[in-house]
Amino acid sequence: MALIVQKFGGSSVADAEGIKRVAARIAETKRAGHDVVVIVSAMGDTTDDLIDLANEITRTPPAREMDILLTAGERISMALLAMAVNDLGVEAHAYTGRQAGLMTDDRYGKASILGVVPERILRTIQSNAVAIVAGFQGVNVHNDVTTLGRGGSDTTAVAFAAALHADVCEIYTDVDGVFSADPRIVPAARQLKIMTYEETLELAAHGAKVLHLRAVEFARKFGVAIHVRSSFSHQEGTWIVSDHLSEQKAMEAPVIAGVAHDRSQAKISVSGVPDIPGAASKIFATVSAVDGNIDMIVQNTSISNPGRSTISFTVPQEQLTEVVDALEAKKEEIGFVSIRISEQIGILSVVGAGMRSHTGVSAKLFETLASLGLNIDIISTSEIRISVVLPPESLDEAARAVHTAFGLDADTEAIVYGGTGR
Ligand code: ADP
Ligand code: ASP
Ligand code: MG
Repeated sequence: MALIVQKFGGSSVADAEGIKRVAARIAETKRAGHDVVVIVSAMGDTTDDLIDLANEITRTPPAREMDILLTAGERISMALLAMAVNDLGVEAHAYTGRQAGLMTDDRYGKASILGVVPERILRTIQSNAVAIVAGFQGVNVHNDVTTLGRGGSDTTAVAFAAALHADVCEIYTDVDGVFSADPRIVPAARQLKIMTYEETLELAAHGAKVLHLRAVEFARKFGVAIHVRSSFSHQEGTWIVSDHLSEQKAMEAPVIAGVAHDRSQAKISVSGVPDIPGAASKIFATVSAVDGNIDMIVQNTSISNPGRSTISFTVPQEQLTEVVDALEAKKEEIGFVSIRISEQIGILSVVGAGMRSHTGVSAKLFETLASLGLNIDIISTSEIRISVVLPPESLDEAARAVHTAFGLDADTEAIVYGGTGR
């Protein structure tokens, strides 16, 4: 008998039929003799629809009210799922994030988990019932509800798996596991059987939305084994385990584990920056004061304008206005001349632990992009990743070509069971 945490994403519970299918899966696990704690996302595209609705009301919804609105999505799915499980003769009780004991800080819309006090959930398990917890939400010290950021139900699941010392955290979604690329973009993507936390972190941080970044960080920190799999099939999915367990695997695996693409970033170029010590630090202090999340940075010294440089960096699109406003407010103090923005850029990343011991990965990547006639804007690297900024409209084509060039193409087409990819 094991304690299993099962998380079902929005595409798995998109309608009544989906909820019943998921309920059957939960009942099956319970009847096999396991203790089951379920984390559920809002149905289908409910969260997007609620955000659209709020934006129809006002361009500036207060963050606290926005979180009250968004947590409603998961309240609906948790209640309906508990009803469906009970209907199958298995006792189940639904809990909001707050009832389940998920405490967060008070950064509405992007709250961090401070702790989990799962007393109520433990009591539910002890009474032989299934606990069904609303994902993506918690409560702050002011007793107000908060949300963990888009895709945050994965993080709720891993947090409960850690707090309850679960044997496994199963993440059920609309594809059979983690693939070598997004199967919606690269049909030849192959399913990965086992991955290290490290590789998964890099993929998640660079656009592979199959797992929430903080879920992987949490899993790594607390050693939670994650099994990503489909709720639409019974196929074995992808295991994400600690780095040393899969070291052997990494040695045998291809140099590149996967390709990620990201269309959610924008670029800011600050030009005419005085080329003196401290200028860059003033810029980045200003960005960090408004919580700007910088990923890539490049600095060019201008030949035509000696003594001045251009500093370009990427930020998530939703932070663009706030970051630009903050910089403009400090224009004189920083001493720059102007700001240019690209509202959308494309970022393509190749990730693989094998990169450490293999050279020539960047040469092959750049060669492939050159053969498509693509100009690379910014490049950034980590020990196991190379990312490049490309025109957003060429991202899909580039992802497919790079996937092929690194020998990752599978013989069969990947299956996408549901969801809208929104
Ligand atoms: P859920 O609703 O279950 O949380 P998400 O839409 O958040 O599902 O995540 C699943 C989706 O992630 C898949 O449908 C797929 O399009 C996308 N995805 C992006 N990159 C990858 C990848 N490397 N492997 C698998 N899926 C990926
Ligand atoms: N419902 C939330 C979202 O759509 C959380 C999640 O699905 O993980 O982002
Ligand atoms: Mg998700």
